[in-house]
Amino acid sequence: MSYFSDPGNLCLFLQLELDDAIRRLHRVVGNAVVDDDRYVGGGTGSTQLFQAVLFALSSPTILTLSPSVSSPLPLSTLHCFWILEKKHGNMGMSSFLNHVMSQPPDSPLSGSKFDSYPEETEFLHSGLYNWAGDAYSFDKDGAYVELVTSPNNPDGMIREAVVNREGGKLIHELAYYWPQYTPITGKADNDIMLFTFSKATGHAGSRIGWAICKDKEVADKMIKYIELSSIGVSKEAQLRAAKILDVITEDCADSGPDKEDNFFEYGHRLMSDRWEKVREVVKRNGVFSLPKYTRDFCTFKGKDTDSSPAFAWLKSKDGLDCDNLLREFKIVTRGGTNFGVDSDYTRISMLSQDDEFNLFLERLAAIKGSINGNY
Ligand code: PMP
Repeated sequence: MSYFSDPGNLCLFLQLELDDAIRRLHRVVGNAVVDDDRYVGGGTGSTQLFQAVLFALSSPTILTLSPSVSSPLPLSTLHCFWILEKKHGNMGMSSFLNHVMSQPPDSPLSGSKFDSYPEETEFLHSGLYNWAGDAYSFDKDGAYVELVTSPNNPDGMIREAVVNREGGKLIHELAYYWPQYTPITGKADNDIMLFTFSKATGHAGSRIGWAICKDKEVADKMIKYIELSSIGVSKEAQLRAAKILDVITEDCADSGPDKEDNFFEYGHRLMSDRWEKVREVVKRNGVFSLPKYTRDFCTFKGKDTDSSPAFAWLKSKDGLDCDNLLREFKIVTRGGTNFGVDSDYTRISMLSQDDEFNLFLERLAAIKGSINGNY
């Protein structure tokens, strides 16, 4: 079994079956433009693709340092330049530094983002980019990359770019832009869009993500990064993902105009039911609050629909440390400080197995009695 799939394809390790299946699914759901002039690239989850995009958006400027080099330089060479600069003073690299940031959850005053971005951005100590934090307070000159996660992790809100000025590139993280989580309000048509099998269908362990890119040079460089870091993506995982996506696409296409019984309808019903239950418990115990989401027309379902995000972004009304409080009741969450906000916030997964979710509800419901001294 070769490393490569189709030497004629721009993404030479992407199985054609997967490329076709991704495009067909987006067409049937209507959540992204996947016309023939868009490039689809696969990655070991969207986590690898995120690194690949940072490399792609940062590397072109390096070529201007060395005009004799006509193809993208390998990462080790980029590091050499950086080390040289540190040793010999400014070689002009600092103006090439890309600042990467993301935006906050609730208001311009609080800071939050998918908690892995800062670590992933800083992990290699790249001289090409650094993590600049909260997009709302970003005021530096020069190149920047803004990550727009919509619906957002952790708070499930719909996001748009906030910096919007010259010299910027946008990465749209659309992992949760699927009908089980949010109304589909149109086909996303951004320059660089990241999706993942993890959230589209729940197959996180298969490690399949994909990027849809308008620009061939960006797509080329992302693919180069993946070739250099892992020589492609597991073919078994790609074929399995392609088959599953195909089954879901056929299911949606066959379910008729009311689409009552397809995979996404089922997922949305399940998520809505969970949200109703969690809101009911939160209302009864009076200790916490949850965000409110606006109902919107879902083009996939053809009717107004509620959001039912993958995470509950819970806030303690009394300003208590929400993660600690829940841990006392054997509920493990991810505290607000991991997302750059106060500890009165915490994130709870809404995607657990049924028995785990029911246990969570039971334990959450017990908190009120305890706080009143009756537990
Ligand atoms: N992006 C977002 C917004 C996520 O929430 C997650 C997982 N929590 C990922 C990416 C990770 O995706 P993958 O499993 O494809 O690496």
